[in-house]
Amino acid sequence: MLKHNLGYPRMGAHRQLKKACEQYWQGRIGRTELFVTAKRLQEDHWLLQQQAGMDLIPCNDFSFYDHVLDMSLLLGAVPDRYAPVVTDIPGNAEIDLCFAMARGYQQHGLDITAMEMTKWFDTNYHYIVPEFTANQQFRLLSNKVFNAFDAARHCLGTIPKPVLIGPVSYLLLGKEKGGGFHRITLLERLLPVYIAALKKLQEAGAVWVQLDEPFLAMDLSEAEAAAFRHAYAEIARQCKGLKLMVATYFEGLRDNAALAASLPVCCLHLDLTRDAQQLDAVLQALPPKTSLSLGVVDGRNIWKNDYEQSLLHIRKAVRALGEDRVMIAPGCSLLHSPADLSLETALDADIRSWMAFAKQKLQEVFELDEICAGNTALLEANRQAIALRRASARVHVPVVKARTHAITDQDACRRSPFPERQHVQAARLKLPLLPTTTIGSFPQTDEVRQLRAQRRKGAITAAQYDAAIEAATLDAIRWQEEIGLDVLVHGEFERNDMVEYFGEMLNGFVFTQNGWVQSYGSRCVKPPVIYGDVSRPEDMTVRWTKYAQAQTKLPMKAMLTGPVTILQWSFVRDDQPRSDTAYQIALAIRDEVLALEQAGIGIIQIDEPAIREGLPLRKPDQEAYLQWAVRAFRVAACGVKDETQVHTHMCYSEFNDIIAHIADMDADVITIETSRSQMELLQAFAGFRYPNEIGPGVYDIHSPRVPAVAEMTALLQKAAELLPVRNLWVNPDCGLKTRKWPETKAALENMVAAAREARLRI
Ligand code: GLN
Ligand code: ZN
Repeated sequence: MLKHNLGYPRMGAHRQLKKACEQYWQGRIGRTELFVTAKRLQEDHWLLQQQAGMDLIPCNDFSFYDHVLDMSLLLGAVPDRYAPVVTDIPGNAEIDLCFAMARGYQQHGLDITAMEMTKWFDTNYHYIVPEFTANQQFRLLSNKVFNAFDAARHCLGTIPKPVLIGPVSYLLLGKEKGGGFHRITLLERLLPVYIAALKKLQEAGAVWVQLDEPFLAMDLSEAEAAAFRHAYAEIARQCKGLKLMVATYFEGLRDNAALAASLPVCCLHLDLTRDAQQLDAVLQALPPKTSLSLGVVDGRNIWKNDYEQSLLHIRKAVRALGEDRVMIAPGCSLLHSPADLSLETALDADIRSWMAFAKQKLQEVFELDEICAGNTALLEANRQAIALRRASARVHVPVVKARTHAITDQDACRRSPFPERQHVQAARLKLPLLPTTTIGSFPQTDEVRQLRAQRRKGAITAAQYDAAIEAATLDAIRWQEEIGLDVLVHGEFERNDMVEYFGEMLNGFVFTQNGWVQSYGSRCVKPPVIYGDVSRPEDMTVRWTKYAQAQTKLPMKAMLTGPVTILQWSFVRDDQPRSDTAYQIALAIRDEVLALEQAGIGIIQIDEPAIREGLPLRKPDQEAYLQWAVRAFRVAACGVKDETQVHTHMCYSEFNDIIAHIADMDADVITIETSRSQMELLQAFAGFRYPNEIGPGVYDIHSPRVPAVAEMTALLQKAAELLPVRNLWVNPDCGLKTRKWPETKAALENMVAAAREARLRI
């Protein structure tokens, strides 16, 4: 069986690429130095994959910023506004064009906006969205893929496998500018250029080319399905002799199995870690000469592969197709895995023995092949590791499981319906019309960050740290009182990150030192690992919230992160349904909510910005997800008395198709991000006659710009036309931790002024 890989993490185990790019952007290193780092990283990764025994090693999976952006450069889909970056500025090269498209260009008298960025399917990776116009032209522009092929070949001494995004998925990933056409109709113009690139690779000596077509595993329209048939018929006709592998991942083929199997290519790759059931249908439908690549090692998680499971799939495929038509690989590109487990020196040894990062995942692919060839010792060792994890008392805590199973509908329900609660809460809180508040965090200054770093290093005592955090909190409270906010927050100065902060205090979580995964460009995230049943050993936020409330007569809003967001932004265990883990976290948050209520806190916010992003990729799966996600939130929120006001907050979401479920969360108040859409996102709530209170963000926190009073009054006026004024709150779009103090103060002063003016006018 051929063993291969679909893509390797680019950053380097020590995030070398991040550092080099950021230095280049700051002008601290030159292009040559940047390229040296990139070359070294690619070579290291090629050799590492070769040493791991991979037969086909990917190239062109590397990117300075994003591989979708690289496709736009390859195919000459560069929006006109970037022309001056190369034509007008002497010395600029393709790399500068690439970064200009990704990040915008504000230099040398030019001011060009960046291209849009969006989430890569259901991962936390973000790609640069191709922009297409009605008269879009394509041409071969960048040589990156050809250079990568030559370099990899030279480095490896064997023929590498270039990776490209397939033509149909490339178009579907993009967005029409100017309207009046559908991007799929650009296929006719794209194909000749795309085929020219393939021919050029073939001339350079390429044998295999991997074309990623993740959309084959998504819901497809008839026109999209037809585009696949047409594109691959044309490619097959014109690129005879080139071995094409079409790679699908993140979902099963399901109703597209026959379509995918019928494409005239040499090999089809399936992500069996996402959907093992597709294997039978594909085995039946596969034409006699097509090979099948089995993605058996999970590229999205950090857990050791269960060889026994993988071998079932491999043996089934080998029985049906014969060994020479079966390949094995990770399910998807390892871009979404951290680099190397061997760097984790501080992890608990047991838990570490259950894990595999990118480097180890390749080892797993290799070992699976060895086991097929008769190496039973490897299988035995894996069986033992899997069995230890399965039986571990670290993972399985019977009382937590029992409590989760005992959750009742009543636990997920407030005592009284919203109108009654609204009444009691109004009497208790005595807030003005259009109450003003913020979303939780205030600027995380260098000073505050340093405090936390010093505390971690042990350079200051707990008492010193607490005193400094108290001082920062007190300052923020005095200042909120001065400018006249109605509902205050403590500022979240004690928190590093809204998920990590809670994970560190909950049972069932561990943290890696180097488990970084690329999020976008040079940005990486280090998600916590949920390895076992989650429970809350003690209060998490009560101390700081109580302190804050004691400093003011105004209501202090407590801040928690919701169960779905904690789940979504962590590496989650794969030995139980996500919903089970979500309910366990929900119960932990519920206990915290009750502890806050007990401590006299009247308003508690449970942030759930990630509810929307957890939505499954396939329509038929979405309802079931929304049911448990909303229920998990309700379990977290609904333990309180009527007089306790529960807020939730969500950002960067479109709400149209899930508005009924948002309403079903039954938060007393929801704050959402709307300012950049000029309240357009509020339409969904208005159309639905959203019954509870709502704070549509009146200013964008992503930029340092200070919005004028009139701007915000106008937005409030707009909101008041859409929803009952008595239900409206006034707040920014999101937390302010990435902002600086001066702009934050100025913006919030204006916001309070806008609310006061609106109260008189509306
Ligand atoms: N309470 C959090 C904050 O203000 C919310 C962050 C978020 O929605 N992403 O930082
Ligand atoms: Zn937010």
